[in-house]
Amino acid sequence: MDKETALVVFSGGQDSTTCLFWAKKHFAKVVALTFVYGQKHVVEVDYARAIAEKAGVEWYCQDVSFISALSSGCSLTDTNVPMDESKPQESCPNTFVPGRNLFFLSIAAVFARERGIRHIVTGVSETDYSGYPDCRDAFIKSLNVTLNLAMEDQFILHTPLMWIDKAQTWALSDELGVLDLVRNETVTCYNGIPGDGCGHCPACTLRREGLEEYLKSKK
Ligand code: ZN
Repeated sequence: MDKETALVVFSGGQDSTTCLFWAKKHFAKVVALTFVYGQKHVVEVDYARAIAEKAGVEWYCQDVSFISALSSGCSLTDTNVPMDESKPQESCPNTFVPGRNLFFLSIAAVFARERGIRHIVTGVSETDYSGYPDCRDAFIKSLNVTLNLAMEDQFILHTPLMWIDKAQTWALSDELGVLDLVRNETVTCYNGIPGDGCGHCPACTLRREGLEEYLKSKK
């Protein structure tokens, strides 16, 4: 993989930022692609751009706002919907954007193909599975086959975080020398607050618990 280019689907959050630096370590060149999908907190995009610049990678932003226009009731894109603070028993939390990863990765593949790139990196994880079906390994493997068939190509979808939890994701960012950058300069919070965030939304809780666990394990 050393001489090849990778495209990272890059939101500017903890997971995709860790993936961005993982890709920098494993590939000769890295390109980052950020999507604007109608999220309430477009501030994410500014952070993504700033991190990409700091990382010295090419950065592109693609508007795919039609995704949020297709469905209603998602608290990440609809200002009238209060956010689920915990995962409901039988269904996806209302922070789920239906089709998001399907669209993102399909568009990323077209974007990559156009530039002769076959490696695509995404920060999805099945371990800290929030109830999002499109973060599961089976979905990624299935989509990889579909993309290859759809475009008669040989894409390789990489998911470095698939089987690790949040504490291990922090450990990986530390190993890559970017723990402080990830901690202070990314936006994971569902309320759009950078760094340690609002502290109480599901994304902040997961992120904080992982960080505490990792820092404790280091002592
Ligand atoms: Zn938060």
